[in-house]
Amino acid sequence: MKKYAVISMDVEDWYHSYFPEMDVDRSESLLDGLDVALDIMDQKNIKGSFFVVGEIADQLADKIRGMDANGHDIGCHNWTHLRPVTMPVDEYKAQLLHAKEKLEDVLGHEVVGYRAPAFGIDNERFDAMRSCGFRFDSSKLKPQKSAKYGVLDLNGFEEIYPCIYRDGDFTEFEVSTQKIGSMNMLLGGGYIRMLPWFFMKWMTRRYLKTGRPYVMYIHPIDLSRKPLPHVDGIGLDRYLRTHVGRRGMVRRFRAVIRMLEDAGYEFVTFEQLRRMDFAEQ
Ligand SMILES: [Zn+2]
Repeated sequence: MKKYAVISMDVEDWYHSYFPEMDVDRSESLLDGLDVALDIMDQKNIKGSFFVVGEIADQLADKIRGMDANGHDIGCHNWTHLRPVTMPVDEYKAQLLHAKEKLEDVLGHEVVGYRAPAFGIDNERFDAMRSCGFRFDSSKLKPQKSAKYGVLDLNGFEEIYPCIYRDGDFTEFEVSTQKIGSMNMLLGGGYIRMLPWFFMKWMTRRYLKTGRPYVMYIHPIDLSRKPLPHVDGIGLDRYLRTHVGRRGMVRRFRAVIRMLEDAGYEFVTFEQLRRMDFAEQ
């Protein structure tokens, strides 16, 4: 079985990642973390999949056009970063179409990839998303204990390769998790940054031994070199989530890439995987 790795980034600013429902001062941006990721990936000639929040598409227009021309996937991550399950379906769909059209205007071609903010999608919204013309999605997680994630049932889909599911011409890519006891621990996002490195390394190695496709997701805030803007009254939990491990994250990001190389993984984008014929592998 060939081993595939996808580095995916949700292209959103710090206030989308951690304060989507709060009216915070947005004058400072931590989107430099996108450049940090691209620099590291360019050095290795790795192409990745990027899901962009619609409301910052104009701000990033030249950047994402360049990434698109350079072989990265540009997908959609909704208009704002509110969790879809918290929105009425009609409103969700209207915002999603708005974001898709905005990205298509910027890029000059169809946008077919999607990921739900905070993986907060359920089947009703999943069907609404599919009706907007997307061809692939990467919002599926193994069941999580945290109630903030949505529950997505892939009834009717066939698992055509481990963690890759297909229904007609639509493909779903599951984000990598490692089972520890009764928990499905996420191997990406802020977890690479926040969890003790020896533990993350151990979980990742264990996962890579299976040879299953590895899907990492990260955010600009994880790799940004700028300090986090001050937000009043955020409480300890959110303070820790936004601050822990930021200084060491670039090193960890490089280290995960090396682990994937050492384990014989080939870096691809979701769009490349979507077009593959797994029956021959
Ligand atoms: Zn996101």
